[in-house]
Amino acid sequence: MIDIYTMGVDIGSTASKAVVLKNGKEVISSSIISVGAGTSGPKRAIDYVLDEANLSIKDLDYIVSTGYGRKGFQFNDKQISELSCHGKGVYFDNNKARTVIDIGGQDIKILKLADNGRLLNFIMNDKCAAGTGRFLDVMSKVIEIPVDKLGEKALESKNPCTISSTCTVFAESEVISQLSRGVKTEDLVAGICKSVAARVSSLAMRNGIEEVVVMSGGVAKNKGVVKAMELELGTKIYTSKDCQLNGALGASLYAYEFFKKERR
Ligand code: ADP
Repeated sequence: MIDIYTMGVDIGSTASKAVVLKNGKEVISSSIISVGAGTSGPKRAIDYVLDEANLSIKDLDYIVSTGYGRKGFQFNDKQISELSCHGKGVYFDNNKARTVIDIGGQDIKILKLADNGRLLNFIMNDKCAAGTGRFLDVMSKVIEIPVDKLGEKALESKNPCTISSTCTVFAESEVISQLSRGVKTEDLVAGICKSVAARVSSLAMRNGIEEVVVMSGGVAKNKGVVKAMELELGTKIYTSKDCQLNGALGASLYAYEFFKKERR
């Protein structure tokens, strides 16, 4: 049997991700480059996966791009919306998933999946950084804790503070003023995570929550946000260590399906 290699490339606002699949089942390489659309990120993400898989771009049977920057990407056979790709990637990893909460660099998507994984409906945030990765990235700079360490810090808190402004710019001033008043860093970080969770949960509840609930996207790596979301929604939230790759994984799975339909 000839092996089929497909690639999914997720060009986000903040990060570029790529996944290469063998025969539509086995992830043989993946990459995350922390710069997104309009940067060298997509090319670097592709170079990395090809190198790791020991393949050249000509060895790939089908390429699907997704994400905010997919329209400017020239190496693809097809483009698919990130809503469909995230749903597909999550369901491949956990076929019990019925609600997907995806928080990326600049948007929040709440997806409902059918028992067979089909996307039933979705809801998204308006054009505002509140509740997104961008909010956390801004706060991480103010507090001088790298974004990948915010979650652990938040879990140390016994008394999360309250951030009353939703707007990122006003919340930033509020955090600066709390810092200067000597509020403990862990309480401040936990408050920031709680503020993201409150924003995302109110959006999620508008669409109704059906278990199993899975969090996807880069922000799902932040354990402080995941815990705060569990408290807000009163339900267990599942994540995976590859949560940020779900869009690229879904795109690679679609690439395999399209290859089978069109080229076999
Ligand atoms: P997009 O697809 O919109 O580019 P991603 O799903 O890649 O977004 O998520 C990017 C966001 O994920 C960043 O803004 C950042 O806040 C968060 N993030 C990325 N890596 C980590 C990490 N290791 N720990 C916690 N948060 C992270």
